[in-house]
Amino acid sequence: MKVLKFGGTSVGSSKNINSVMQILDNYSKDGAVICVVSAVGGITDKLLRAGNQAKNKDNDFINTFGIIKDIHFEIINELNPDNNSSILTTVESKLNELKSLLDGIYLINELSPKTSDKLVGFGEALSSFIIAETMKNRGLSAERKNSQDLIITNSNFTKAEVNFGITNNNIKDYFKSANQQITILPGFVAHSTLGEQTTLGRGGSDYTAAIVAAALQVEQLEIWTDVSGMFTTNPELVKQAYPIQNISYQEAMELSHFGAKVLYPPTVQPVLDLNIPIHIKNTLQPHAVGTIISNDDTNGFKPVKGISNINNIALLTLQGSGMIGIPGFSKRLFETLAQEKINVVLITQASSEHSICLGVDENDSEAAKTAIDLVFENEIALHKIDPIIVETGLSIIALVGDNMKNHQGISGKMFSTLGKNNINIRAIAQGASEKNISAVIDKKDVKKALNTLHEQFFETQTKQLNVFITGVGNVGERLVEQIKQQKKYLKENLKINLRIIGLSNSRTMIFDEDGIDLKTWKTQLAKGEKATLEGFFENTKALNLRNSIFVDVTANKNVANLYANYLRESIGVVACNKIACSSDYENYRLLKRLSLKYNAPYLFETNVGAGLPIIDTLNNLIASGDKITSIQAVLSGSLNFVFNNFNDDTKFHDVVKLAAAEGYTEPDPRIDLSGVDVARKILILARESGVEMNLEDIENTPFLSELGLKSDTVDDFYQSLSDDEAHYQNIYSSAKANHCQLKYVAQFNNGKASVGLHEIPEGHPFYNLEGSDNIVMFYTQRYPEQPMIIKGAGAGADVTASGIFSDIIRIGNN
Ligand code: ADP
Ligand code: ASP
Ligand code: MG
Repeated sequence: MKVLKFGGTSVGSSKNINSVMQILDNYSKDGAVICVVSAVGGITDKLLRAGNQAKNKDNDFINTFGIIKDIHFEIINELNPDNNSSILTTVESKLNELKSLLDGIYLINELSPKTSDKLVGFGEALSSFIIAETMKNRGLSAERKNSQDLIITNSNFTKAEVNFGITNNNIKDYFKSANQQITILPGFVAHSTLGEQTTLGRGGSDYTAAIVAAALQVEQLEIWTDVSGMFTTNPELVKQAYPIQNISYQEAMELSHFGAKVLYPPTVQPVLDLNIPIHIKNTLQPHAVGTIISNDDTNGFKPVKGISNINNIALLTLQGSGMIGIPGFSKRLFETLAQEKINVVLITQASSEHSICLGVDENDSEAAKTAIDLVFENEIALHKIDPIIVETGLSIIALVGDNMKNHQGISGKMFSTLGKNNINIRAIAQGASEKNISAVIDKKDVKKALNTLHEQFFETQTKQLNVFITGVGNVGERLVEQIKQQKKYLKENLKINLRIIGLSNSRTMIFDEDGIDLKTWKTQLAKGEKATLEGFFENTKALNLRNSIFVDVTANKNVANLYANYLRESIGVVACNKIACSSDYENYRLLKRLSLKYNAPYLFETNVGAGLPIIDTLNNLIASGDKITSIQAVLSGSLNFVFNNFNDDTKFHDVVKLAAAEGYTEPDPRIDLSGVDVARKILILARESGVEMNLEDIENTPFLSELGLKSDTVDDFYQSLSDDEAHYQNIYSSAKANHCQLKYVAQFNNGKASVGLHEIPEGHPFYNLEGSDNIVMFYTQRYPEQPMIIKGAGAGADVTASGIFSDIIRIGNN
């Protein structure tokens, strides 16, 4: 004999009930089958809602009743289009009973636990009746038996305790003489020894099935639901969760106690002693393997089996210097909670015994506080202990696994993973058996916590990076395209799952928690919501995704001003915008400190030399113990272009105009030609070498004419270049006479930095620098004579985008 239980979704529509009947028909060919059914999906909640509406004199209870009625009638009509009158008559009379009960609740303004049990019992009564009658209509050998005649409990309404002595005998007696092949039993409902209707607690149909399975000592208990087994974690919150094939009773119990709703926690107990395996199966995918809960755990070597969560937890903290001396303190505390029927989900006590923390259901927190404060009234008055502190809006997350005790460092890994993602841990509990490590965290962090822990313990293979890009102009667009092109490669070769979650230009912004479709990002962005810098930050923060990275591909000061906000939320920052790094030294330091404190990388490789690995190399030299003594560099693609094209046949003014037209200069060419841009770059390199320096500290010897330096507008500036052509020709002639090339050089020597135009003789590494190339020479303690040289294209959208991309991957590899 087999016992199968079908949950709310499984009997939630005529289509699903047809699948259930198909499964039962197949099983019954091999012997008798007992089928426990839940109420039609959502009906228990609706019954409770109608009851509460009636109690509160809210006439909407009639509408809710109407919905309940319609749902059942629709199912009956769809299942039995030709032969439904007798079913409808009985269901109608049951619904009339229900309506009378609701009217009564309305009249007396009261919904006691006892009445509530009577009310919710209609759900299973209706579903089991409809299914049994439909099966009979189809010629199957089926009978409904009311489990209230079999399962006997105490009068602890809404969560009654079973009297196993009487119950087991009832079940055995009934099935000894039952002749039908298929017996349909309503789950969840029972009778008290006094004959009152009781229930076994929300989700209790699983328990009904386990009670029957144990009483009859069947070979297997099957729980059919809407997912393909017990998952590594809640599949609604973690897309990567997958079904666990084998799991021990203890592990399943822990996971369900800590929130894995797929199995009602008491279900394991009755079958555990008899070693009856529980098989969790999916009604909607009957061929999926599912999960087997038993003692034969074939993959028990895995330390962490699953991760679960309970929401709506309140933390009660009792503390006070006098706590140690209070006799029977714990006894009084826990007795009080037991009397109030308050379930304690988690306990932690500091070894000093000065404080004790309890996790309880948020709904119980006020009652708990009142009761405990009352019991310790005297001690509180004498200031031996403080009034209890209640914190709400919390959740518990728990790692579960029988084998965790044999593996060191699991809790360390758990807490460091949470810490790295800026998830604040409020309390920790680890049982002596080490089957469970739990942490209390903010409810808002649950999804992020489950996802990062799942990645850490179950998907060690891949790391998800969640990227938010601001600025999709020339460079930003190239970056998005490069990411699109490399996505597959990164996943397969570097095990990095790179997703763009947010995109913004100055007009609009878009977000997609599951990753923006990169084939259509442009059209999506055009239709996006109005962009604001704060809005982009707030959305990024609210999504609260692990390994989030904000990418700034603008040259905007206001964007740079928000980096600190991102870092404080443990969101990494990758910037090609060099404003922040070359701003006031204090600000640069602050960002560096925040990056360390919040474990959020702050990378800006493209601030100097576009895609060339200049800053990374510098950082690596320093990290490995080297010291920078000097930096000699040509860091301006624009100035290089200008001086490479300035000769006997060209005019300085025309060359600058050409550079601007080709996109080599900033829109305001004075930023390049005055040397400010290069000064910012050498400043960043000096700072990264460990020197405290500001832009004013850099010696800047201008090569521009007086007129050029003083010009107020860009037009005036160009005019000055024409007017002072002779000045520029002199500079060129001198270099030519000396057989030199003109290069705009940045230097850093012994803690001092300078920028200026130099005549470079033949043979010097700078002499042959072409086009817009950059070159950097690092002289260090380890490279005293022959410098380490980095040279290559130092400007351009593609190389800059690839530099930003490298920073993102660098974060992924860490
Ligand atoms: P039923 O109505 O069939 O009893 P439940 O809704 O009670 O179904 O339980 C199944 C649901 O449990 C799933 O749809 C899923 O959302 C939720 N769930 C939470 N944690 C887990 C987990 N670890 N494994 C599987 N399902 C889980
Ligand atoms: N119908 C009940 C509930 O929703 C029992 C169950 O489905 O297991 O809680
Ligand atoms: Mg359930």
